[in-house]
Amino acid sequence: MPAPGENVLTNTQNAVQDALSRLGYDETVYDLLREPVRVFTVRIPVRMDDGHTEVFTGYRAQHNDAIGPTKGGIRFHPNVTLDEVKALSIWMSLKCGIFDLPYGGAKGGIICDPRKMSLPEQERLARGYVRAISQIVGPTKDIPAPDVYTNPQIMAWMYDEFSHIREYDSPGFITGKPLVLGGSQGRNQATALGVVIAMREAAIRLNKEVKDLRVLVQGFGNVGSNVALILHDLGAKVIGISDAGGGLYNENGLNIPELVDQKDSFGMVTSSYQNVITNEEFLTQACDVLIPAALENQLHEGNAGDIQASIVVEAANGPTTPAADEILNERGVLVLPDVLANAGGVTVSYFEWVQNNQGFYWTEEEVNQRLEEMMVKSVHNILTTAERYDVSPRLAAYMVGIRPFAEAMRWRGWV
Ligand code: GLU
Repeated sequence: MPAPGENVLTNTQNAVQDALSRLGYDETVYDLLREPVRVFTVRIPVRMDDGHTEVFTGYRAQHNDAIGPTKGGIRFHPNVTLDEVKALSIWMSLKCGIFDLPYGGAKGGIICDPRKMSLPEQERLARGYVRAISQIVGPTKDIPAPDVYTNPQIMAWMYDEFSHIREYDSPGFITGKPLVLGGSQGRNQATALGVVIAMREAAIRLNKEVKDLRVLVQGFGNVGSNVALILHDLGAKVIGISDAGGGLYNENGLNIPELVDQKDSFGMVTSSYQNVITNEEFLTQACDVLIPAALENQLHEGNAGDIQASIVVEAANGPTTPAADEILNERGVLVLPDVLANAGGVTVSYFEWVQNNQGFYWTEEEVNQRLEEMMVKSVHNILTTAERYDVSPRLAAYMVGIRPFAEAMRWRGWV
């Protein structure tokens, strides 16, 4: 288990402060960037199928709007906390900064367990959340998207609800929509494709080829399962996958297409298998690349010394604690941080929003090609910055990602 008391917000704030001070910005800049500029807490009554009303708590945190509207997903999960949502909003800003997207970061979360809710209950919750936050969101204010346990169907209900409230069709209000409702080609696989491109570029720097690498993928939701599938198609050996119930490991490689067919909509697949290993055993199996694609604080002080991978590509948000990051760096493991490696999702969300705004749609090839160009450029930019300043790739990513916000705030006269 992760170290007790590990607070993702405090850890993120410390890293932002470190990045800003290395860039020479003063405390006022940090003071404005250490917390979101706006946080909404809402209580959402939902009529459950059995007739009783349950009240859910939800959040929307908008980190910084100096560059443009804010952007970031909405998470449905029983362990959502306000600090987590705030940290996630800061990470969204960093992704937008690294990829030059005209947004600041935001994030939403609802404390709920959609695995135990019917689809009509999920729909009422999704619509209730949009009604509760409708004043502070919109295509030029704050643009939500999917995150853990939310999906195109939930985006469609939210889009429909928002369009009803505003009384005009507003596809640019939310991204990750189904294709027929103005979604973008390639959005569903975008985060995973970006992760694989980032991994390929890291491998090139280490004189390795993707097809020769043995990979462990932790988490089998939208991102993890698509990463495994793309890697499988590229000829890499995916030797381990895991879900919330544990991991499957086979040094000769797993049958990924079969596992993808068997998984449920929450990424559960191991339950029908024997020989399931625990999550902790899973992370320390022999491999070349480890791709955490689940939740926060998975690589921590207690297991970082035993990770066998030489490359870690963070598909999840916040999977590595600062202590683990230090241990991995000292051991010479190349860690591609989340705000770089998983930003393919928000990048194609940006493409979706652009397409919605112009009412003209791109082919999947165009989308993927633009994503690839931006990911390749960003990976090399961060790794080169890390070398130049002699800092970890994560600190380099924070420096590159936070700088545009400090500059934009200065131009606006805020600091
Ligand atoms: N939830 C995704 C993330 O954490 C995507 C956000 C978006 O597309 O706006 O990056």
